[in-house]
Amino acid sequence: MLLKNRLFTPGPTPLLPAAQNAMAAFTAHHRTADFKALYTRVLADMKDFIGTANDVLVVASSGTGVMEGSISNLTSPGDKVLVLTAGKFGERWRDLAKAYGCNVDLVEKPYGETFSLDEVRSKLTPETRAVYVQSTESSTGVRHDVQGIAKLVRGNGGDTLLIVDAITGLGTTHFDVDGWGIDVIIGGSQKALMIPPGLAYCAISERAWKRMETTKNPRYYFDFRKERKAAAKGESAFTPATSLFAALGAALDFIRQMGNGDLASGRKALVDNAELAAEMTRAGVKALGLKLFAASPGAALTAVTSPSGLDSGKIVKEFRESFSAVVANGQGDMKGKLFRIAHIGYYDFLDTVGILAALEHVLAAVTDKTVEYGVAVRAAQQAFARSRSGELAEMAGAKS
Ligand SMILES: *Cc1c(COP(=O)(O)O)cnc(C)c1O
Repeated sequence: MLLKNRLFTPGPTPLLPAAQNAMAAFTAHHRTADFKALYTRVLADMKDFIGTANDVLVVASSGTGVMEGSISNLTSPGDKVLVLTAGKFGERWRDLAKAYGCNVDLVEKPYGETFSLDEVRSKLTPETRAVYVQSTESSTGVRHDVQGIAKLVRGNGGDTLLIVDAITGLGTTHFDVDGWGIDVIIGGSQKALMIPPGLAYCAISERAWKRMETTKNPRYYFDFRKERKAAAKGESAFTPATSLFAALGAALDFIRQMGNGDLASGRKALVDNAELAAEMTRAGVKALGLKLFAASPGAALTAVTSPSGLDSGKIVKEFRESFSAVVANGQGDMKGKLFRIAHIGYYDFLDTVGILAALEHVLAAVTDKTVEYGVAVRAAQQAFARSRSGELAEMAGAKS
């Protein structure tokens, strides 16, 4: 059969056609009234997408740029910070904090696991200036308990900031950013927003803005206070990625449509979509006798342990060669041991059933197991039907 190129990677993710068209058509210069109107509208919409009243910044960089800014703006050399790490991206927080001279305390768990709240509590001290964590660790598919961690951090007093890398969490996880007291929450354009890489964004609490008045680490491009000042005038501090802003505007309109005209409802619908795709995928994978890698999997992606003795690279390669579907291998030490299927952003029912149907053929091709065709698809269908009947029952309940 002919092949369509499809991404099932946890970033970049499939592109929204309306966003691609908006990008292609966009020509405005960034210091014009037209662009200022777009910029201002997008920043306001991003608050609803994130679900916060805090000021939002969007800058031209990959996600790591704003992660770095969240260290450089919020810390001084020698500051005691706590990094919670259980994977490749947690290690990035550790390395960034060290690069800026922080005194780094760690709660460290093996890949595939998460930390208990007791472990976090035991490392929090009155001197802890900031806590850094992922909401979903994309290298392992694990969801960390951000709500529980936020409660501990808030209980530690106003001097401890909580910074959450939700780069794969936003749009796949329900957050109450302001209610829980998350001081900085970070996202990236190439994940649930369904547009290409190149924009990173964050929402910043008043507590965190205040911290920036006294911190001493160097910063220039990612100087959040400078960016906030410019944003208040409808501008960015440096040349913005104009065409990506046009794409982002279209993506936010699409999400608003998902919520029947309400962006906050659209955000919830997008998260529910990822949840359902993840549930279908987990059901399909388990029905094939495969094991989930993550102890507490999130909806962003499903990490699947490779059958024993089989290099997961063979699975990744077979997906690509036979179906032109790009799934992700493990990262770092996990390379060859697992593969990852993403549910972030622009995935529908047919994508989800399709990748599981392909997985059946991939397993038949790379293992000597006999695969009963339809096993994964049937389990996914049942998960879908269960969710639908739940929805219908809810609607009936709401009507009566
Ligand atoms: C994608 C991702 C990042 C950002 O990576 P960039 O390549 O800098 O965009 C950071 N954290 C997590 C959890 C991610 O999934």
